[in-house]
Amino acid sequence: MANDVLAQAETLADRTIDFRRALHRRPEIGLQLPGTQEAILAELTGLGLDVRTGTTTTSVVAVLEGASDGPTVLLRGDMDALPLVENTELGFASEIDGAMHACGHDTHVAMLAGAARLLADRRAELPGRVVFMFQPGEEGFHGARYMLEEGLLDAAGPRPVGAFALHTSSTFASGTINTRPGPLLASADTIHLTVHGRGGHASAPHQAADPIPVAAEIVIALQTMITRRISIFDPAVLTIARLTAGTTDNVIPVRAELEGTIRTLSAASRSTVHELVGQVVHGIASAHGMTAELEIESGYPVTVNDAGFAGTVQDVATRVLGAERVVPMDNPIMGAEDWSYVLQEVPGAMAFLGACPPELDPDSAPGNHSNLVVFDEAALAAGVATYAAVALDTLVR
Ligand SMILES: [Zn+2]
Ligand SMILES: [Zn+2]
Repeated sequence: MANDVLAQAETLADRTIDFRRALHRRPEIGLQLPGTQEAILAELTGLGLDVRTGTTTTSVVAVLEGASDGPTVLLRGDMDALPLVENTELGFASEIDGAMHACGHDTHVAMLAGAARLLADRRAELPGRVVFMFQPGEEGFHGARYMLEEGLLDAAGPRPVGAFALHTSSTFASGTINTRPGPLLASADTIHLTVHGRGGHASAPHQAADPIPVAAEIVIALQTMITRRISIFDPAVLTIARLTAGTTDNVIPVRAELEGTIRTLSAASRSTVHELVGQVVHGIASAHGMTAELEIESGYPVTVNDAGFAGTVQDVATRVLGAERVVPMDNPIMGAEDWSYVLQEVPGAMAFLGACPPELDPDSAPGNHSNLVVFDEAALAAGVATYAAVALDTLVR
């Protein structure tokens, strides 16, 4: 099956690119993406899929029933864009002011629709069924969680035995599949912190309670906590990215406000860091006779690739694309994905599809989320083929 899947994906390349460009021109942000949903529904028309739309979001779940009975596999493409002004000068650049498909989700939708077309064409040889998950709201809106709450995993009857997502990246060589077993992406939680002092004259700090040195001490102590109390073998990143206090040079302010992010690669280190942040913040505030208000807002969990499934993806991609296009990743990336919610329920994996334009260097090309990012469309056929081949491999055992 290996070579003919790629050949079949290549026959769909023009269609995939056209669809991607149409999506790229009309980016939408968040959980409600009516135009994108409409475009997906139109593209899936006539493929003989059982198509359902979300109730809380504009998601689309499409099920392809194979000719004989067998297991269920789930493939996902996220749909949403980012609040950016595109600056690429592409002929099909965004026509929506302040929105841009800068994370390549337009390519995900187009490739997933291509895989649906490819697999529908091979229905006769399919045992079981394929669930195509078109998901809004990946960029911080927990879209995958909404879809799970709406019964995504029961949409096809039997639950999926495997789940696979691709993510296009401009900083990997074009047409390559990059993944690893275990943690692939980090958890991402947000720290909101206020240190409450007491205002006064800057010349008489003893008559006030100055929150600024306490905030500064907390920033430093959090870094000490990360390096002294978190195992280097289960690492974490903590960055205080905003620190705001005061209005002028001779007034001690009433409060200092801090915000930051916590990234970890395991549920264990995630909960340890949460607990220790509380200890450090409240301990230091109290040591100086002040109080602190701390909220740790939970973002996405760690995205953990099932080791067996990630290995399967690598094997399948090797057969379909050739060994030179399958690159094991030494390290995870400390970004985050709500695909993590699906991988908490189903053994599966995510892989990065390299799409660095050939004239650029992956090390210096504008990355995902840049208003300059450009993806090499020549890579999309490899993505369509990988999606389809992973599904076929999972079903035809
Ligand atoms: Zn993104
Ligand atoms: Zn993304």
